[in-house]
Amino acid sequence: MAIHWDDQDEEQKPPGEKGEYCELCHKSGPWLTLLKCPMCHKYFCEACAYHFGGKDFCSAHCGNEFFFGGDEDEDG
Ligand SMILES: [Zn+2]
Ligand SMILES: [Zn+2]
Repeated sequence: MAIHWDDQDEEQKPPGEKGEYCELCHKSGPWLTLLKCPMCHKYFCEACAYHFGGKDFCSAHCGNEFFFGGDEDEDG
């Protein structure tokens, strides 16, 4: 008997369920410590973490949003 594997090459297929891999660098593994962005709720590894204000965010953008809100009325 033959087993037919579907040869679908899905682009950018996540390496696992949400929360089981870093959504930024797509690393996954049991050794991976995942953090969750309190702003956008993405999961990311420590290598991708952006430390800001004593918290860990997925990006500087989320850190800013978290502490300073979305209304950026800056005019340079
Ligand atoms: Zn985020
Ligand atoms: Zn990562």
